[in-house]
Amino acid sequence: MKIAESYFRLGTENAFIILSKAKKLESQGKEIINLGIGQPDFLTPKHIVDAAKKALDDGHHGYTPANGTIELRAGVSRHIKKMYGAEIDSERVFIAPGGKPSMFFAIMMFGQPGVEIIYPEPGFPIYESVINYSGAKAVPMYLSEEKNFSFNADEVLNLINEKTRLLIVNNPQNPTGGLIEKSEIDKLVKGLKEFPDVAVFSDEIYSRQIYDGKSMPSFFYYPELYDRLIVMDGWSKTYAMTGWRLGWSVWPKSLIENVTKMAINSYSCVSAANQVAALAALEGSHEFIDDMMKKFDKRRNLIVDGLNTITGIKCNKPGGAFYAFPNISETGMTGEIFAEKCLFDAGVAIVPGTSFGQSCSDYVRFSFANSYDNIEKALEKIRKII
Ligand code: PLP
Repeated sequence: MKIAESYFRLGTENAFIILSKAKKLESQGKEIINLGIGQPDFLTPKHIVDAAKKALDDGHHGYTPANGTIELRAGVSRHIKKMYGAEIDSERVFIAPGGKPSMFFAIMMFGQPGVEIIYPEPGFPIYESVINYSGAKAVPMYLSEEKNFSFNADEVLNLINEKTRLLIVNNPQNPTGGLIEKSEIDKLVKGLKEFPDVAVFSDEIYSRQIYDGKSMPSFFYYPELYDRLIVMDGWSKTYAMTGWRLGWSVWPKSLIENVTKMAINSYSCVSAANQVAALAALEGSHEFIDDMMKKFDKRRNLIVDGLNTITGIKCNKPGGAFYAFPNISETGMTGEIFAEKCLFDAGVAIVPGTSFGQSCSDYVRFSFANSYDNIEKALEKIRKII
């Protein structure tokens, strides 16, 4: 067999590989604390599960429109209005099985040989993977520890040239937990006026996971970009629904037909009953989110303070998401070796920094989507082996 060359340019998401390594060790009787995977360790709230069960009982068993049901798209539009005061026509809303398909479709829609796409590094590995797959040149926009993993708008604008088609921004950020302040995004958007052919893809999947009373600096605050802006968010992280495969994105009017065609050509539509549950999530009580964030905040303090007391480890305080991205270079190990040692010697699964970009060998990612007690135990185990 000879499969297409493009396939060999696809990367992967190492967190899944580490999860399977951890599961294998567990099956051999080893106790593993998983701080590798990026999903809330909570169950989906009951009223959402009940809505899905009822939807099945009520006969929501068939296909829906490929871009999502009218009811759910209208619900997302109302949600955006409530969150950001932005008027978004529900015709521009696209419902997908998770956040990832919107990301894949956007990159494939702009990417081709001869063009450039800018993406964050450290960053969610799928950006670089799909850019390479599309044949476009992947241009990293480096986020530095000194800036608490934010960016400098002028530096980003300097990366743009006549070949640039798409700029990917992720805020709050995976893997660093960095939060880019609105003032920096204001500068970026101002500068983008000079580059009207550059589209923006804003990955806002952690929009509800922000600490210290700050609010989400969403790209929805910039209507001047709406004709070239794609915003992606979803249910996975906000409502602990990663396994339901539900996400939403908002597209320029001119692209919504294209992205709908991508859905028709691949998965047709999202599960009908899940879409009913997704609407129940948006419209039901949000107490769950507040409770979850209180827990995440306590764990954030525990993990950051704990890591900073281990010799050789320096950890910034994340402003969002549920990740800590410490610099471990003073332990004398690379992130890869450090992560292997944590898994095999301490029984703690974490992800090496290079999974989020080649320049990140001094770092590892800890997900604090695990219980307070387990994080405490994990820190003690790591302290012993370092
Ligand atoms: N974007 C970022 C930055 C993520 O970290 C993740 C998941 O880890 C996703 C998108 C994917 O979200 P979903 O599971 O809804 O596809």
